[in-house]
Amino acid sequence: MTDAPSSPRPSVFTVPMSTRDPAPIPTPLPTTTSQKPSTPSFALPKLRLEIRDLNHDGTQGFLIAVVASKALLTAVQSVLSLLYKSPTEHTTTVPGTRSVTLVLRSMEGVAYTTGSELDSDHKEIHFSLDYIHKSVAPALLAHEIMGVLTHEMVHCYQYNALGTCPGGLIEGIADWVRLNSGLSPPHWKREGTGKWDAGYQHTGYFLDYLEKRYGEGLVRKLNEKLRIERYKEKHFWTELCGRPVEQLWCDYRQKLEEESKKTEEEECLFVDRYDATASGALASQAPTSTTESGEIADVSAGVV
Ligand SMILES: [Zn+2]
Repeated sequence: MTDAPSSPRPSVFTVPMSTRDPAPIPTPLPTTTSQKPSTPSFALPKLRLEIRDLNHDGTQGFLIAVVASKALLTAVQSVLSLLYKSPTEHTTTVPGTRSVTLVLRSMEGVAYTTGSELDSDHKEIHFSLDYIHKSVAPALLAHEIMGVLTHEMVHCYQYNALGTCPGGLIEGIADWVRLNSGLSPPHWKREGTGKWDAGYQHTGYFLDYLEKRYGEGLVRKLNEKLRIERYKEKHFWTELCGRPVEQLWCDYRQKLEEESKKTEEEECLFVDRYDATASGALASQAPTSTTESGEIADVSAGVV
């Protein structure tokens, strides 16, 4: 043990004050006028993440594509604000979902949601790591993960007419929320073929048509009806929209056909105008070489 020196030196090296970096200047908080409207403050469930295989390539893909805590929180908030609007909205009733656990594991299919064995207020979303790894292009992965999480989160919060709601309508509501959260994948399209309750985006787009036709809040009202009564199709839709669902589906199909016809006419008009412009350009270029006329013909063919 050495003796303490007579003139004590500092026990740790300290930088002279003059050479220290200046104290960081805190970034000013945004003023209230530039802030977006805040998300309604719903009571949130406990959110949990369970990764059953850290070595799976899908796990790495998931963790790189999204921040897990924010992803689940965003999905919950999208679902609550679209299906229940706000905690003080008296026309809707938020279910008492207490926790949502996202389980990432190797399995067939894409994802599913289930209640816990002990208590259905505790939900589990099972999401396939194989799907994440093999079926989604890296550039689309974050968008697809958020889309699937949002769809599954709807199942944690929607009503099912005391177990009597058709599966196609349940899935249509889930994809309507996904659509209105800005998370529709590129291959989705509106279709008026087949049955209205074929499910998923097919029914989701139909609900979107009804929401626009009858006003914002129609799907919320529909979900609330599924809370309080058993599903009897004719009565359900007539009370909600004033018409049976088959008639609503015919109206929707007719609207899609009209829109498609209008688009075709607009495209024809565009081609006609383009041809007229191209002919004028040709007439002003005399003499026209074979090469020049060939290039113009190629462009026209491309447009048609
Ligand atoms: Zn589903």
